[in-house]
Amino acid sequence: RAKSGGRNQVVFFETGMQSEIELRLTMERELSQAMDGGQLQMYIQSQVDRLGTPVGGELLMRWHHPQRGPISPAIFIPVAEESGMIIRLGDWVLRQGCLALNQLAGAGFLLSLSVNVSPRQFRQPDFVDKVRLVLAETRADPHHLIFEVTEGLLIDNLHDTIARMRELATLGIRFSIDDFGTGYSSFSYLKKLPLYELKIDKSFVQDTPGDKNDTAIVQSMLSMAEHLGLRVVAEGVETRDQADFLIANGCSCMQGYLFGRPMPLDAWIDLQRKVALQPAMPVISAPEKS
Ligand code: C2E
Ligand code: MG
Ligand code: MG
Ligand code: MG
Repeated sequence: RAKSGGRNQVVFFETGMQSEIELRLTMERELSQAMDGGQLQMYIQSQVDRLGTPVGGELLMRWHHPQRGPISPAIFIPVAEESGMIIRLGDWVLRQGCLALNQLAGAGFLLSLSVNVSPRQFRQPDFVDKVRLVLAETRADPHHLIFEVTEGLLIDNLHDTIARMRELATLGIRFSIDDFGTGYSSFSYLKKLPLYELKIDKSFVQDTPGDKNDTAIVQSMLSMAEHLGLRVVAEGVETRDQADFLIANGCSCMQGYLFGRPMPLDAWIDLQRKVALQPAMPVISAPEKS
């Protein structure tokens, strides 16, 4: 499967590996070593309101391979998902998120943290128990935790998925549909699920406001979300024009390079302290360092 790999996948292929299976097995083995060897890092990217004030952040994993350099989660998350390693990775991310929430709460910030939860992770029989346990152990406040799930989660066992989401919602956790509009294309689930938020995928945002079709799609999504009472986060906002267009059409939150690249979690928490001392003003950030 040499699709969507980009540069990182090419690097893997160039090492002389024969087959896709070999590539996958190597990546699986190295990912397991990466977990134990501290090569995985928790990054976070700000989510801001219309004024550019941070309202929270999304936790995004980074893998710094000692020989191969940075490897994109777009490549290693699907491998982790298929091998089952996502369970360990997901546990780790959740714990990091809870600890970070405590740090933020301790510093007096009312910021939410969004955690990506993959379908396989969500479907673990003991997932709810695990979430309860980590909340109890860390004493983090679940009301500031948002789980981002994709439409792919809704393909099978919608009934069980809804029941489980409700159970987690009872704990205070909120749900967001990530990459909205790119997957399972039935709107019927929107009214059945206990949802808080929609994230408009960056593929729809990137050509606004110039492209007529994307402009119409984004406007419809914003209006639908408003009528359903859902918060919207537009992903991949890179230009002032995009932000102006989104704001003019009622988008409440944005996430993208215009407002900040993903950065190491600790540095982000420090930054919030500094930002809190300054007037709200979106800053065009430097490229993400890896
Ligand atoms: P996602 O959840 O949709 O995350 C948003 C992606 O958009 C991130 O890619 C982010 O770096 C990127 N992005 C943010 N702003 C911009 C922008 O202005 N322009 C462009 N072009 N891109 C932007 P990233 O960090 O490479 O992650 C890719 C995907 O990997 C994520 O997509 C998510 O599906 C998955 N992922 C990352 N971390 C985790 C994790 O801890 N657990 C799980 N299950 N999946 C994860
Ligand atoms: Mg996400
Ligand atoms: Mg997304
Ligand atoms: Mg995406």
